[in-house]
Amino acid sequence: MGYDANGSLVDLHVHSNASDGSCSPEQIVSLALSLGLAAISITDHDTVDGTDEALRLCGGRNIRCISGVEISAAPPEGFPAPGSIHILGYGFSVDDAPLSKVLTLLQGARHQRNTRILERLDSLGIHFTQADVDGQTLPGHPAGRPHIAKLLIRDGYAKDIDDAFERFLGYGKPAYVDKYRVPCDEAVALIRNAGGVPVLAHPGLIAKGVVEDHPAFLKDLIRVLADVGIMGLEVLYPEHDDDMRALLSELASELSLLTTGGSDFHGNAKPEVSLGTGTGDLRVPFSLFTALEKAARNGR
Ligand code: AMP
Ligand code: ZN
Ligand code: FE
Ligand code: FE
Repeated sequence: MGYDANGSLVDLHVHSNASDGSCSPEQIVSLALSLGLAAISITDHDTVDGTDEALRLCGGRNIRCISGVEISAAPPEGFPAPGSIHILGYGFSVDDAPLSKVLTLLQGARHQRNTRILERLDSLGIHFTQADVDGQTLPGHPAGRPHIAKLLIRDGYAKDIDDAFERFLGYGKPAYVDKYRVPCDEAVALIRNAGGVPVLAHPGLIAKGVVEDHPAFLKDLIRVLADVGIMGLEVLYPEHDDDMRALLSELASELSLLTTGGSDFHGNAKPEVSLGTGTGDLRVPFSLFTALEKAARNGR
């Protein structure tokens, strides 16, 4: 690459329409180029199809790209985190067979969960068909809860995505259905064995408002995850305030973990979040990308 990216910004947490984002990988790469981002990673929920395409699209262009994925995992035993914890993987081989097998399993679990969510909504007098849900995603890619949220908004049952989760789809709400999650140690091992770097996604959101002493909970959780092989923490994230960023940076340095950052861009599925800048003040330096890439190379 014949350009100097030092001083430039990156975005390492981006969803495409291979999961629940609204933009294609091509639209994301074009947008990233127009914003002058030096590197991106597409980190779709439980699929590598979008990231695979982005790797190809970025080849030979003025932007770097590293493979990414966001896996829905179960927290370690004894940690009362409702729902899933999200484990990001970076720099792994996209055609790794054991990883592909587990991702296929997770996609199947999503599909089954969607059917059950529709049954629950049906019993609440809200009728959507499987075709309503499937029509919103690319063929072969099961929808996520945000797609069902869109239908609820369309038909006037919720005013926005947050409201749809609050009324129906969120943990413990009337249309909530659990889905299979990979045990976290297995998710970490899968990513590492595929040559990649596992990173805990948006730690500040885990069990937020659920446990009494949140900082103490996060410290314990992250120490356990570091013991099972997590290699990084997503420190720079739109919903992390300065205190959370400081807490996570300190833990990362104490446990010799990498730090990463990204917007969790979902296109118009989450319109308040912009690529690169998140909700306005996100700045993820290029140096975090190079450190991540180096760690992934060393893992091979
Ligand atoms: P799923 O992968 O189908 O379980 O859906 C998870 C996605 O839904 C996440 O990526 C979030 O973007 C979105 N989400 C989860 N909880 C909420 C919430 N309370 N409000 C709005 N969006 C949410
Ligand atoms: Zn998402
Ligand atoms: Fe996530
Ligand atoms: Fe995400």
